[in-house]
Amino acid sequence: MQHYDLIAIGGGSGGLAVAQRAALRGQRAAVIERGKLGGTCVNVGCVPKKVMWYGAHMAEAIEQAPDYGFDVTKNGFDWNALVTKRHAYIKRLNGIYANNLSTKDIDVFEGDAKFVDAKTLQVGEQQLTADHIVIATGTTPNELSAPGAEHCITSDGFFELEQQPETAVVVGAGYIAVELAGVLNALGTDTHLVIRRDNVLRSFDTEISDYVTNKLEADGITLHRNAEVAEVTGSAGDLTATLNNGTQIQTNAVVVATGRHAPLQELNLDVTGVATDRGFVVTDEYQNTNVEGIYAIGDNTGRAPLTPVAIAAGRRLAERLFGGQTEAKLDYDNIPTVVFTHPPVGTVGITEAEARDRHGDSVKVYRSQFNPMNYAMSEHKVPTLMRLIVTGEEEKVVGIHMVGDGCDEILQGFAVALKMGATKADLDNTVAIHPTSAEELVTMT
Ligand code: NDP
Repeated sequence: MQHYDLIAIGGGSGGLAVAQRAALRGQRAAVIERGKLGGTCVNVGCVPKKVMWYGAHMAEAIEQAPDYGFDVTKNGFDWNALVTKRHAYIKRLNGIYANNLSTKDIDVFEGDAKFVDAKTLQVGEQQLTADHIVIATGTTPNELSAPGAEHCITSDGFFELEQQPETAVVVGAGYIAVELAGVLNALGTDTHLVIRRDNVLRSFDTEISDYVTNKLEADGITLHRNAEVAEVTGSAGDLTATLNNGTQIQTNAVVVATGRHAPLQELNLDVTGVATDRGFVVTDEYQNTNVEGIYAIGDNTGRAPLTPVAIAAGRRLAERLFGGQTEAKLDYDNIPTVVFTHPPVGTVGITEAEARDRHGDSVKVYRSQFNPMNYAMSEHKVPTLMRLIVTGEEEKVVGIHMVGDGCDEILQGFAVALKMGATKADLDNTVAIHPTSAEELVTMT
């Protein structure tokens, strides 16, 4: 039986962060991982998605190149070539992660972790004990809850596609659905998106949600609104998706992206008494569960399921336990987030609707919609929309919502300003950088 100061269940963003920070503080740490190191983000999430998004961006840039005088035509796209390079890149990352752990003397156990009791874990034939156990299992995609689910893939399966589907049906209206539908469409797949309401990204600021929904359609995606997939039939690569409104779509792939759940059943959590709520681990603001010595971080807590959140929570937890920072904890307010649509969405703070609920009539919205200069040379325009939500006499900025080229990169710095309590006057007092899109955020009237 090996004993550790800290064991992380899950070698994804959160588990690696907490184990590495614990090791940095002189603790004996281990990670248990049943898949590949790096977890969802590195293997079947942010990283391969961003590679595909860059690929899609390249396709769009080639289309625009003649507007700048280039004699180019898009003669084809080799999906398999890009995917092969992407796999190789991720394999390199897996190696770097393994190397980072070994240089920090963090042990890695491969396999499924199961609690034996609140201090003991079983992995294969081995039992491990730890003073501190961190549940960092992440989440796994929901499957289609209709007949024919076995014919569908999720985002995990999307990243295994070696050949480009000619036609694809994507189901869902959240981050993953719009990102994957956007990539498929831009790379030339005839793409259908099935959403059960009117709009995608419904939890976002309404005007951003409207913009993205309209843009998906304008880009050529066939949007099936107020529809659900009732059945999928056929055989691999040759499927029929039947919607509840009777529409039938012949397709090579059905990609289900209707949310994710935490794989907690497999952990044998019952023996510990750790409380869960709607399938997620219940934690307090310090990532403590209700059982002393057991913590949870990342997506399986159901709070802000984003890689940098898991990393930040993991590092703070390790600092609190081992670094003498007894009050260290992550502030979950005002977390900036980007959706890699075409163009990307960037948002931080509360929406206009949330602001009006909380602050009533003291809410004011500044708005700017414009065509970035890049499109001055083109017939085809992709407008940028920026919205600032401010409250009170002092016009404190409580929400920044934007969609447009570069908004993914613009957001981070403005998120710092919002987090520091910036007012509209603070933004106005910052001299614009010209000519950029970002300058609109400091020149709105
Ligand atoms: P999301 O929670 O973003 O979206 C899932 C959406 O699917 C729901 O909001 C719902 O939208 C719709 N839905 C749910 N059930 C059904 C159903 N039965 N049929 C049809 N539609 C359904 O989940 P994702 O899986 O897309 O992503 C999980 C999380 O991962 C995200 O919330 C995000 O935090 C993170 N992520 C972040 C990324 C980034 O940072 N760029 C990229 C990808 C993921 P509605 O109610 O409108 O129908």
